[in-house]
Amino acid sequence: EKMQGAGAREEKILVLVRLRPLSEKEVASNEVADWECINDTSILYRNTLREGSTFPTAYTFDRVFRGDCSTRQVYEEGAQQIALSVVNGINSSIFAYGQTSSGKTYTMDGITEFTVAEIFDYIHRHEERAFVVKFSAIEIYNEAVRDLLSSDNIPLRLLDDPERGTIIEKIREEVLRDWSHLKELLSICEAQRQIGETALNEKSSRSHQIIRLAIESSAREFLGKGNSTTLAASVNFVDLAGSERAAQALSAGTRLKEGSHINRSLLTLGTVIRKLSKGRHGHINYRDSKLTRILQPCLGGNARTAIICTLSPARSHVEQTRNTLLFACCAK
Ligand code: ADP
Ligand code: MG
Repeated sequence: EKMQGAGAREEKILVLVRLRPLSEKEVASNEVADWECINDTSILYRNTLREGSTFPTAYTFDRVFRGDCSTRQVYEEGAQQIALSVVNGINSSIFAYGQTSSGKTYTMDGITEFTVAEIFDYIHRHEERAFVVKFSAIEIYNEAVRDLLSSDNIPLRLLDDPERGTIIEKIREEVLRDWSHLKELLSICEAQRQIGETALNEKSSRSHQIIRLAIESSAREFLGKGNSTTLAASVNFVDLAGSERAAQALSAGTRLKEGSHINRSLLTLGTVIRKLSKGRHGHINYRDSKLTRILQPCLGGNARTAIICTLSPARSHVEQTRNTLLFACCAK
């Protein structure tokens, strides 16, 4: 089905779907769960009230996770392989996509922590190589890029470097010491996200967060001898803006329009993902948004990509859930 370039090894995008359980609040207000994972790869819509309606009721993906699956399971059976390829010099991106309150942050936070723990494990087991792990974090809100490790509120500029491609000017990078250092940095980021925000929910539903780990390693026996084989790659954990605003435009394949209510980065990401999943080698419009420009080296080509689509099972969310599943279908 997929076109292969001469000699090019091309990975398809790993598409995972995670259904969250009904929350206590939803249960208390008599909300009904209409979606059910019937095995490891299929999710089914079961609303007998809507039997005979025109939309498909079963959807199949690489892997689906039921409401009682832990984030560790999602990590081990889904994201792990892709995230850990960074130690072998392979770039990767892991996205959480879904409507606000579907579980993106819950999922991504856990995956980031498990990955970091395992990377440090790996580093300790491979003492023949010297590793450096650098942490950085940004937020993209209304196409403005902000450093989540820095307290000044100045938007960061993107520059084109002839060798490295798009770089983020003056971004702060911290050399990561260990897992508890990660926890410390994550709480700084969390605090930065909240500063000056009167309507935090509104903002977190519209902004994208990227946590990046850049890892370099070289064989110790060659260190300082100038002919060392250095491996460098990064893994990106991307907690996307709520899909509710872009969902209709995305599933309808509408062309990108200017407008405050449409999230340019989310729409462009959708277009890029659709093209990559079809194996197209023509022009891919990475430069149309900040998010895709920044992630370009870690999307497509030799990079590896996983998208975790998070879903609410609630009847009242059925339209958004379907939109998320349609996006997930486009990506696989
Ligand atoms: P989002 O980031 O998509 O807006 P959150 O990750 O903040 O959503 O999740 C919304 C709420 O649901 C949070 O209180 C979170 O703890 C809870 N939640 C999300 N996913 C799960 C899950 N798989 N199991 C249990 N609780 C979850
Ligand atoms: Mg969130």
